[in-house]
Amino acid sequence: MPRPPAEPLDLLLLPTWLVPVEPAGVVLKNHALGIRDGRIVLIAPREEADQLIAKETRDLSGMLLAPGLVNAHGHAAMTLFRGLADDLPLMAWLREHVWPAESRWVDEAFIKAGTELAIAEQLQSGITCFSDMYFFPEVVSQLAHKHGIRAQITIPVLNFPIPGARDADEALRKGVALFDDLKHHPRLSIAFGPHAPYSVSDDKLESIRTLVAEMDIGIHMHVHETANEVEEALREHGERPLARLARLQLLGPRFQAVHMTQVNDDDIALLVEHNCSVIHCPESNLKLASGFCPVERLWEAGVNVGIGTDGAASNNDLDLLGETRTAALIAKAVSGSATALNAHRALRMATLNGARALGLDDHTGSLEVGKFADLVAFDLSRLAQQPVYDPVSQLIYSCGRDCVRHVWVAGKHLLDDRQLTRMDEEQLIASAQEWGRKIGSKH
Ligand SMILES: [Zn+2]
Repeated sequence: MPRPPAEPLDLLLLPTWLVPVEPAGVVLKNHALGIRDGRIVLIAPREEADQLIAKETRDLSGMLLAPGLVNAHGHAAMTLFRGLADDLPLMAWLREHVWPAESRWVDEAFIKAGTELAIAEQLQSGITCFSDMYFFPEVVSQLAHKHGIRAQITIPVLNFPIPGARDADEALRKGVALFDDLKHHPRLSIAFGPHAPYSVSDDKLESIRTLVAEMDIGIHMHVHETANEVEEALREHGERPLARLARLQLLGPRFQAVHMTQVNDDDIALLVEHNCSVIHCPESNLKLASGFCPVERLWEAGVNVGIGTDGAASNNDLDLLGETRTAALIAKAVSGSATALNAHRALRMATLNGARALGLDDHTGSLEVGKFADLVAFDLSRLAQQPVYDPVSQLIYSCGRDCVRHVWVAGKHLLDDRQLTRMDEEQLIASAQEWGRKIGSKH
């Protein structure tokens, strides 16, 4: 039995259901969760908690308290390109629309406006931690610091000039400097983000390998997004992209392979051998007709699979709960088994597995004493959620992100009864509309 903490709690939460995610498959009824100094210090039956002193107590009747969702892959500022070009295959969408729009519009002001919009949308969607792979990572880190969310910010590396870096070497230099600035930050971490095997050459990947060995940080990369990517690599290099990354010694427990819609037995063996994580982005893969990541096969093989929304230009929202429902449904269709990716596993994928993929599972991803209080309270009391037999099934299969009532990150209340506490929603909407007018008039 947990011993009551001696000092008063900062906050005591009293939800109807508490789903810790670890241990797996557990739903605690009428339990309390106590927070002090931004961390979870107590999870106990309600009667025990009644004797404790807390500076603030919140009744969360009718609500399910869960770990905050971890959006393990995205391009935050692409919110400003939401809906700019739809219904196109990946390469036509990139070459004819996204890359030209990026070269015309992306500067620090764009990144600031788009990233703030993304942070606000993610908080409203129950996301407490996101991974970003876009430009001006130093600007994104300032914003994530300011607005209180947790983030893995990746350093973009490509073999051509990008906004904010004239070449890959400059991007790497800036990345190392940003890592040095942030290495003791409690909520922000840095990883390298080589864009994809087809856009980064061997010598740059080797530079990244050397830096990662010194810095002990993650590598986050689009890999095997489409069949075409794999076919072209076989033609050009005579090997599959994942095999090339293995040959270059990039694979390891900190390697985050985003997409993996093309997976054969050799690929699975490499992922298992090197203990890599996969980030599944089902809605982006569906929308761009990229293929299907075989989540159930990966899970059964022991590969850690997290989930991401990808950018809002190919999704078109940052709704990780909706993404998780899509993932659970597709897993059944792809594997031909209705038992694939059940509701509890789906929630684990959206929380703890994502945290593990980002190397943050000591800090977040489950409700455990000692971890940061990164939490979301979902409202299951409304008409469309009745009756509640299994609250986790209800969360995955019948809740939308409008069920998100409260969000805390490291104990800070960032969404209070659906209202952003640190961001001005009206101003964010006005700013996005202004950018939309400018971009739309030239597209
Ligand atoms: Zn992506």
